[in-house]
Amino acid sequence: MSVPFVDLQAMHKEIMPELLDAMTRIANKGNFILGDEVQLFEEDFAQYCGTKFAVGVDSGLSALKLALLAYDIGPGDEVIIPVNTFVATAAAVTFLGATPVFVDNPHGDYNINTELIEQAITENTRAIIPVHLYGIPADMDPIMEVTEKHNLLVLEDASQAHGAYYKGKRVGGIGHIAAFSLYPAKNLGAFGDAGVITTNDESVIQKLKAMRNCGQVAKYQHEFAPYNHRLDTMHAAVLRIKLRELDGWNEMRRQVVTWYDELLADTVYQIPQVSDDVIPVWHLYVVQTPQRDGLKQFLAEHQIGSSIHYPEALHQVAYYQHLDYKNGDFPVAEQQVNRILSLPMYPHMTQQHVEEVVRVMSLHSHEAMAQS
Ligand SMILES: *Cc1c(COP(=O)(O)O)cnc(C)c1O
Repeated sequence: MSVPFVDLQAMHKEIMPELLDAMTRIANKGNFILGDEVQLFEEDFAQYCGTKFAVGVDSGLSALKLALLAYDIGPGDEVIIPVNTFVATAAAVTFLGATPVFVDNPHGDYNINTELIEQAITENTRAIIPVHLYGIPADMDPIMEVTEKHNLLVLEDASQAHGAYYKGKRVGGIGHIAAFSLYPAKNLGAFGDAGVITTNDESVIQKLKAMRNCGQVAKYQHEFAPYNHRLDTMHAAVLRIKLRELDGWNEMRRQVVTWYDELLADTVYQIPQVSDDVIPVWHLYVVQTPQRDGLKQFLAEHQIGSSIHYPEALHQVAYYQHLDYKNGDFPVAEQQVNRILSLPMYPHMTQQHVEEVVRVMSLHSHEAMAQS
């Protein structure tokens, strides 16, 4: 039996007629840019997250960039971010000419931690971007407390956590503003690139909507930075339909995790630990093993997909060498990047699929043991 790393087609299969209908409707109507569905999706998504506003954009990176721009973050400003995240979190900061300040995850739970945030704050610090990595919400209460004390902006990077809860509240509505990627493989994904910003702060909405659309507050009235980061009508229509399925799909992911957790308990593999304060949505299911590279290859030989999120911590990324960090600066993340492996994870994964993955994993651990 082969097990792919993800299976998007299985999700779309159930709702494909509805998706194609919506796309046909838009093609016939021709309202490809900022059509009705964009605003409707924004209303639906804001309601889903429990926020007052949502602004659709063309990618997760754009959502992060525009959110920082809305609060005038730029050259000379420092933004604290976790060292273990996708490069886009840092890219938004460096694109604006601001300086990303990386922090490690001392408890090894993959998320940013308040103790290290406090140590990283300087007089130039303006914002913090907690990332709900792998779909597991960061511990937001202490983060909000620290940032209130220092008057800092909190931008949630919720790109991997659509629908996750922290202490009964959806992510996206906990910080001052939040950015979501809607890339096809995310828990909620368009048929191409897309993203969305959520916030309760009405004061930035006009600016955000203008900046995504050539700086316009009305036709040819360009009062803000004239960018083009619009969400396409086609994507908005697809996303509205998929949003209705999201809670169900996230529940299916949790079921997959229950199987994994049970079968991997008491093995050599270190499984994810989560606090009772959160309900994760398991964008990824990441285990740790010192035999990571061997295991990854072994899984591939047995037709099982896997991936690494991410093979380098941000201070090891080629483009960020000019930030002058060195090896040893982030011991936890540096160890994790050599040990982490993301196992197959998607809503329609069956118990048989999970059993097959774990069977091959135990085969590998026995072989590794016999060899040593
Ligand atoms: C996917 C992702 C992004 C970037 O999203 P794009 O839509 O690809 O620009 C940003 N941050 C995190 C944590 C992500 O996983």
